[in-house]
Amino acid sequence: AALNNGDSASVNKLPSVKFTKLFINGEFQDSVSGKTFESIDPRTGDVIARISEGDKEDVDIAVRAARYAFDFGPWPRMSGADRGKILMKWAELIDEHAEELATLDAIDAGKLYHICKNLEVPAAANTLRYYAGAADKVHGEVLKMSRQFHAYTLLEPVGVVGHITPWNFPNTMFYIKVAPSLAAGCTMVVKPAEQTPLSALYNAHLAKLAGIPDGVVNVVTGFGPTAGAALSSHMDVDKVSFTGSTQTGREIMQAAAKSNLKQVSLELGGKSPLIIFDDADIDKAVELALIGILYNKGEVCVASSRVFVQEGIYDEFEKKLVEKAKAWVVGDPFDPKVQQGPQVDKEQFEKILSYIEHGKREGATLLTGGKTVGNKGYFIEPTIFSDIKEDMLIAQDEIFGPVMALKKFKTIDEAIKSANNTKYGLAAGIVTKNLDTANTLSRSIRAGTVWINCYLAFGDDVPFGGYKMSGFGKDHGLEALHKYLQVKSVVTPL
Ligand code: NAD
Repeated sequence: AALNNGDSASVNKLPSVKFTKLFINGEFQDSVSGKTFESIDPRTGDVIARISEGDKEDVDIAVRAARYAFDFGPWPRMSGADRGKILMKWAELIDEHAEELATLDAIDAGKLYHICKNLEVPAAANTLRYYAGAADKVHGEVLKMSRQFHAYTLLEPVGVVGHITPWNFPNTMFYIKVAPSLAAGCTMVVKPAEQTPLSALYNAHLAKLAGIPDGVVNVVTGFGPTAGAALSSHMDVDKVSFTGSTQTGREIMQAAAKSNLKQVSLELGGKSPLIIFDDADIDKAVELALIGILYNKGEVCVASSRVFVQEGIYDEFEKKLVEKAKAWVVGDPFDPKVQQGPQVDKEQFEKILSYIEHGKREGATLLTGGKTVGNKGYFIEPTIFSDIKEDMLIAQDEIFGPVMALKKFKTIDEAIKSANNTKYGLAAGIVTKNLDTANTLSRSIRAGTVWINCYLAFGDDVPFGGYKMSGFGKDHGLEALHKYLQVKSVVTPL
């Protein structure tokens, strides 16, 4: 990969980080223990800020605030239109502060500043707008129970929600979780990933500016096994909405089962296949395959980490893919020419490198990449392996980095079998001009989203979530609004 040497002025520019404390009941405050943890800049490994480390007691205080706001506060009692008005105002504030939010995600997560500012942050504002518009359209139905009774349903907010979010889309994920649950009338405690707490805290500040009442949105920063576990095992949390690894999803479900049987929704990992047929436009397919695995340096739950290419175009595809991957620009995420920033942290960086070593030992062919870039920070070259056997670790495990496993196939049946040969079922992509092929595959692949001749195309109104061990419960769309609502049946004699 072409190296951007990381010495541009912006590398050493650390913006001021204003919000580093827990946000509970409308106030920024220290954790009970007074402890803090470091937030690291993955471009350099330097400390950006010290963040309050919330633990069990802090989660408990935040849940109480959310419970009080739910039981006695205005938020669940407001009309949907009034809730929508506040969410609209919040969306405006996001747009006004897009530079700050983009900067925070760039320095905290190594995300590309310009993509955040021009794409991801405005999309988060639109997520709020989508649910703001839906807040006054929540209604039950009148039922024809029998002649002697009148029955109807009410859709009520589930109550206090715990949102546990990952580090790959810190700002986006905050709004994917918070927006529909707010529209539903819930109150909440958000536990952002310890690697990337900054934008969530800034968003708490925006929530207050927008007029979200105290106690409705609380943010407790801290670690998974302490703060996260406290939230998922809390007796007064009604639902946990989680995005992250399959292993943590399992632990959260167990914690829910062992505590108050709270509802759980899980958006977990993936090992998504992209299947490219002989009739595909090769240049377009190469572009999709690269964006599919390299967007956000491969730290994407739907990353197209397994690419299957039909034999007729395989050689040409491979050649073009490798050429483009070699020219991919890795470096400072503030530089507009850069296509790929650093991995989120040292742990993830080392994990990816160890998978690359494993791939070589397993006998896959390293077509390009495999090395680190620069002499500081957590940069890794776009990496492509071919001659993949499907039982190899690099073809089965979610690596969550810029590492592609490439394989040739002959028939449609073989492609379907390979695509489904994973414990995951988050997403899949198909590239073909043949409608029959596209239809057959989109019905045969066990995944929650299928992209035909596109990849990574999301919409606020398009439900998103997994099949199989990629979890259950949808984000986005009215499905997400409904997951924060519960149905009450009311019956009265006539
Ligand atoms: P993780 O699942 O450990 O972390 C996600 C969130 O869960 C964080 O906020 C974390 O603090 C919290 N958490 C961790 N342990 C917890 C527990 N016991 N109880 C409650 N909350 C807990 O993910 P990770 O370790 O940061 O990343 C590991 C892998 O997860 C990645 O390599 C990738 O495979 C996967 N991942 C998937 C997504 C996705 O969008 N599906 C996002 C991030 C990570």
